[in-house]
Amino acid sequence: MQTAEPAFREETVLILAPTSKDAALSRKVLEEAGIACAVCRDLGELCVGIDSGAGVAMLGEEALTAESLNLLRLAVRRQPAWSDFPLLILTEQGADSEVVLRTLETLGNVTLLERPVRVPALVSAVRSALRARRRQYQIRDHLSENNRVAAALMEADRRKDEFLAILAHELRNPLAPLRNALEAMRLKPHDREAASWARALMERQVAQMVRLIDDLLDLSRVSRGRIELRHERSDLATLVQGALDVCGPSIANAGHRLTVELPGTPMPLVCDPTRVVQVICNLLSNAVKYTPPGGHITLSARRRDDLFEVSVRDTGIGIPGDMLARVFDMFTQVPHAIERSQGGLGIGLTLVKRLVELHGGQVEAKSVGPGLGSEFIVRLPERMTAHAAPMMVAALADKVSSPKQRILVADDNRDAADSLAVMLRIAGHDVRTAYDGQQALDLAETFKPSLALLDLGMPRVNGHDTARRLRETEHGRNIVIIALTGWGQPEDRNRSLAAGFDHHLVKPVDPSMLERLLAAPAREKKTGSACRGEDGPRGGVDQCDRPLELVGGVALQRPSGPDLR
Ligand code: ADP
Repeated sequence: MQTAEPAFREETVLILAPTSKDAALSRKVLEEAGIACAVCRDLGELCVGIDSGAGVAMLGEEALTAESLNLLRLAVRRQPAWSDFPLLILTEQGADSEVVLRTLETLGNVTLLERPVRVPALVSAVRSALRARRRQYQIRDHLSENNRVAAALMEADRRKDEFLAILAHELRNPLAPLRNALEAMRLKPHDREAASWARALMERQVAQMVRLIDDLLDLSRVSRGRIELRHERSDLATLVQGALDVCGPSIANAGHRLTVELPGTPMPLVCDPTRVVQVICNLLSNAVKYTPPGGHITLSARRRDDLFEVSVRDTGIGIPGDMLARVFDMFTQVPHAIERSQGGLGIGLTLVKRLVELHGGQVEAKSVGPGLGSEFIVRLPERMTAHAAPMMVAALADKVSSPKQRILVADDNRDAADSLAVMLRIAGHDVRTAYDGQQALDLAETFKPSLALLDLGMPRVNGHDTARRLRETEHGRNIVIIALTGWGQPEDRNRSLAAGFDHHLVKPVDPSMLERLLAAPAREKKTGSACRGEDGPRGGVDQCDRPLELVGGVALQRPSGPDLR
């Protein structure tokens, strides 16, 4: 094929003429009109040109034998759905031969040009065919953009579902020790030692659940591929102990022997402790699940150069060699293990891998083969630098002691209102509770609180209106009003500020954070300060400028540095 361009362009006109002289003439005429051309030697070449993405084909009627017509028809049919390939056919005078009529019927977008064709007529016919072709290209581009967007949406949806599935799975983990602790308290109601053990355990587990629910509320982050780590100084041995709090009972229940190997020296590291505990727990749970009763599980942690290694080894059913890498893939379960699986979704190890990688670490699975046990080794970098801030803030927070306040707590969830009131009373405050907005307003008139903690979604008068109406009263003008809510997006916070709230806390409120607010000086003149930051802290941390300067300052470091809980 003699082409004007080195390769076909989308607007190239393919020319198939009876003689090379005719072809050269057509080409000259069109090229003078600024149209790119390619001369084809035969119909086969023309069809190749159509397949390669030319703009228009121009050919003489005499090229259309029954066989070549068939070839051409096939080439046109091979075109993608958006294409209606333009064919210009130069016919003998009369244009009513049987071949021409058949061509018209079966080839779709055909324009007949009767010979002899005058140059302007030929050029204008080719131009309008090219214009039509351009429109087809626009449709093609539009369709491919639509497909791209649809694929992106499906991917986002898939990731959201994946995340939900992971969370649902992981939400169950803390429930077991919570229930155990409650049971222990029920069985030994007067045992102070048991109570303090149970309380410590429940605090840890509640913190873990709060974290997971926070992540659920932050679902929009998933579409941006972000799960945030909350780095803190920690010690690996403490984290191993935390994991054993969760999984120890199930190891014992399954009749396994447990060996824990920890070095005598501390193993300080900076990591997200909840996530590391979660990783170890997942591995331990798997060891329990995939080891027949009476097996032996070894949990060890040690420092190796500048890495920390946690290994969970079992004497269980093992993993075939070809599955060792794949077990970390989403929804992957080793076929022979399915009957041993206890309702797992095949996501635990995916979560382990992602969390470890988020820490800059790696996880590896080892097994000599089926029936010969497995070992999972997590390697975490030390990351000791630049993480002093949370400790400082925590230390400062500890020093804060709140002056006695008159506090009005309003929440239609009676347990929530009553338990918060109990907590505040223990801290020495004078507290009254109301279970809807109207009751809160009535009570405020006589009780004259110095501070009001209002749920937002209350019956009769909602929290926003309660705050607004409180602010209209002589007394309410200068009290501190704090919103308590499950909604923590910036727009929710702004709505609270607009209604007259001083602070917007996301439930469940971190007691130390509340303590800090209670310790703050009485309400200054209302400044209408705006909330800061797109990615402000969650879970009970005020995001607004005033008066939590310190908290806000730390919160602003969150994208790269540690965050404050
Ligand atoms: P789940 O346990 O919920 O199925 P995981 O992602 O935790 O999902 O594990 C994926 C698969 O890897 C399991 O289904 C099991 O086949 C295999 N596996 C995980 N841990 C072990 C282990 N300790 N011993 C043997 N097989 C294991």
